[in-house]
Amino acid sequence: MTHTGKCYCGDIRFEFDDPIHSQLLCHCRECRYLSGGEPNASIVISEDKFRVTKGELNTFAREDLENPRTRFFCKNCGTHICVKSPPRPGMLVLKIGTLDDHSWFSPQAAIFCVDQQPFHQIPANVPSFDKTPPPK
Ligand SMILES: [Zn+2]
Ligand SMILES: [Zn+2]
Repeated sequence: MTHTGKCYCGDIRFEFDDPIHSQLLCHCRECRYLSGGEPNASIVISEDKFRVTKGELNTFAREDLENPRTRFFCKNCGTHICVKSPPRPGMLVLKIGTLDDHSWFSPQAAIFCVDQQPFHQIPANVPSFDKTPPPK
């Protein structure tokens, strides 16, 4: 299946194909900057299945970190669309709120709960982990 999405102002449009490798709620400190405060609802997709169909994404990576994430965003409206993360080569972590339809989102894990805030609610059926789930 092909999923489509865009940034808030519409300058950026994108699409990607399945598979969706995981569906996550991330509670880490960094994600709270990008989500506005709530856990970040994200999916992990294959980088080679992702296509920008309108506009051009800007990138940002912190220079003070040894292994920074590269963040992709719209330079006009600032919407953060996806992240390239050194621990996940070949993958993109995509913010589900940028998808035209994200009603199907069903988180499989709540991660970095070591940073969970008192107002963060994790659905009862979603397993939670201090950091990330142990490798299978
Ligand atoms: Zn935009
Ligand atoms: Zn996070």
